[in-house]
Amino acid sequence: MSSSVRAPGRVKEITSLANPIIKDIRLLEKKRYRDETGLFLAEGMKLVIDAIESAWAIRTLIYAKAGKGSDTVEALAARCLAHGADVLIVSEKVLGAIARRDNPQMVMGVFEQRWTAPAAIRPGGNDTWIALDRVRDPGNLGTIIRTADAAGAKGVILVGQTTDPFATETVRATMGSVFAMPLCRMSEADFIAFAKSWPGMVAGTHLKGAVDYRKPDYASDPVLLVMGNEQAGMTAELADACTQLIKIPQAGRADSLNLAIATGVALFEIRRHALTFDGDDA
Ligand code: SAM
Repeated sequence: MSSSVRAPGRVKEITSLANPIIKDIRLLEKKRYRDETGLFLAEGMKLVIDAIESAWAIRTLIYAKAGKGSDTVEALAARCLAHGADVLIVSEKVLGAIARRDNPQMVMGVFEQRWTAPAAIRPGGNDTWIALDRVRDPGNLGTIIRTADAAGAKGVILVGQTTDPFATETVRATMGSVFAMPLCRMSEADFIAFAKSWPGMVAGTHLKGAVDYRKPDYASDPVLLVMGNEQAGMTAELADACTQLIKIPQAGRADSLNLAIATGVALFEIRRHALTFDGDDA
């Protein structure tokens, strides 16, 4: 949430789908409208609380009338109001129209998107960043952001035309990690220039990779892990920009791994030296 001083928000009860505020919120389903407004919708109490705890700016909190009287919901509403967000208490019908059909949630929040500028990426030590070439599938992107967070990566770079990390489905698939992982976007040309100035290994995962992904030393310098597109793999230009093409050996009939799985396998190997086990493995 923004630390700048804002006037307290207002509480409104809305029962009509024709209400213009509700119409605007429903438009956030569309990427074009998310791009224009720089806003997005997060569904569910856990996600909304995760976002607020991570200091993301909330514009509007929406909850179902059934949430009235719930200590948790009312405490959340008071917190949002104090930070200048409006609070909408809506009928089931209105909530059902805003929420995704498969799993309607009682609480939703409209948040401001947050992007990291390329110039703000300053790799050092054994940092790991992940670059995704034209990732298409929202579920893959959400899973990769969640996995990047779990592996201790520093952030995710979206290269070229990609699916939107702020689509409701993707936000949900991140399980809250979208609020912890810096996200950056670049054209392919800008990314190639960026990769050329990377101070460590630029490791591209590639089915034609000549090196077993378990062989390189990932501990000494920052690693930029580059993943190809789901259908086409990475472009030849991106492959050329990598300093190492690595391959995950496979058995069986599958000709490749799913993108999110391949990212997880490579990433946890790259981060192996940095991840400590905190259980009892005696
Ligand atoms: N037909 C595509 C191709 O030729 O690359 C398959 C793309 S695969 C579904 C998506 C991405 O996951 C690949 O571009 C690569 O980055 C990564 N990947 C999948 N399996 C891999 C493997 N066995 N070794 C290295 N990278 C792999």
